[in-house]
Amino acid sequence: MSTKSSFEARSGHGKLTPQSRAALETAFQEHVRFNEPLAPYVAYGIGGPADVLVFPRNGEDLQMLAQICREYDLPVTIIGTGTNLLVLDAGIRGVVIALKHSFNQIEEISKDAEGMTVRCGAGVSKPELLEWAISRGYAGLEFSSGVPGTLGGGIFMNAGTKYGCYADILTRLELFDFEKGLRQLERKDLYFGYREQTAVGDSLVTSMDFRLKNGDAVALRTEVQRIIQERAEKQPLDFPSCGSTFKNPPTGMSAGRLIEHAGLKGSTSGGAEISLKHANFFLNKGGARASDILALIDLVKKTVFEKFQVQLECEVIILGDRGSL
Ligand SMILES: Cc1cc2nc3c(=O)[nH]c(=O)nc-3n(C[C@H](O)[C@H](O)[C@H](O)COP(=O)(O)OP(=O)(O)OC[C@H]3O[C@@H](n4cnc5c(N)ncnc54)[C@H](O)[C@@H]3O)c2cc1C
Repeated sequence: MSTKSSFEARSGHGKLTPQSRAALETAFQEHVRFNEPLAPYVAYGIGGPADVLVFPRNGEDLQMLAQICREYDLPVTIIGTGTNLLVLDAGIRGVVIALKHSFNQIEEISKDAEGMTVRCGAGVSKPELLEWAISRGYAGLEFSSGVPGTLGGGIFMNAGTKYGCYADILTRLELFDFEKGLRQLERKDLYFGYREQTAVGDSLVTSMDFRLKNGDAVALRTEVQRIIQERAEKQPLDFPSCGSTFKNPPTGMSAGRLIEHAGLKGSTSGGAEISLKHANFFLNKGGARASDILALIDLVKKTVFEKFQVQLECEVIILGDRGSL
């Protein structure tokens, strides 16, 4: 099951015009940038410019943005911290929304004998929530040790590890729909699978509730440190990457093993390299372009299919103007 056919939160055919630019400038002032290179906003450090990059501060900003995008028929794309994004070299047309600096409240909303429920904004970073929980002795987020990015991106990807995923502890989701506004959804009504979901659709995740259990702060910290150490031993963390490039196939060898057995470890294209330490990590060794990473993705897909008849599916999300390809 795919999460979306396109990664635009709002599709539109309008181009940025002097009128739409003026409307965005008036509404967002220093919180909007035009023709802004996206490389500094994503983990890979790769990617062309967004026509418009907006940093909404709250729900009112989202309502205002939705109104302008409807009026000028502008497409909308959402980014968190870009730890799972390959932005193409030609950049992204229309409006890109980044939640990196906002929607970052963490609030305990109820408590009982077994644990508590925490409400978090979609812009909260995963490591920050993990630290918040373990320092207070709340268990349930240890699975996320070492996973970067925002919680909004974590819900969209249903990010996780062999120890669990966000869907395991989610109880409620709040979404902003660019046509209909805010919606509240209960976990029981939502589908989440391996790095996929159908819950978010074309909406922006604004906040979510997680159920956490009582635990021991010292034991939780020890476990988190153990998992981070375990990851550091296996993963190449010295160069920019997006973590796993491909999803693991449902049966048989992992994507990393398939790439390794296909003899592709260490393959390069321009400034990009398939890691020698973990073959499912594609690294920006310096000056890589999106086209270099794409060339390695294509090489892997083709070779793995020819050798093992396995069709690998990208976990990394490719965003942007394909006119450049
Ligand atoms: C070193 C490294 C290790 C990693 N390890 C793991 C791992 O162990 N497990 C794992 O699952 N992932 C892992 N990742 C991938 C990545 O960290 C996760 O997918 C993460 O959840 C992405 O969060 P983000 O905020 O960076 O989202 P982005 O990469 O910015 O966006 C990812 C997708 O989410 C959408 N999105 C982001 N925010 C919102 C929002 N508020 N509302 C709606 N849609 C939104 C975007 O449109 C995009 O389609 C790793 C990445 C790196 C660099």
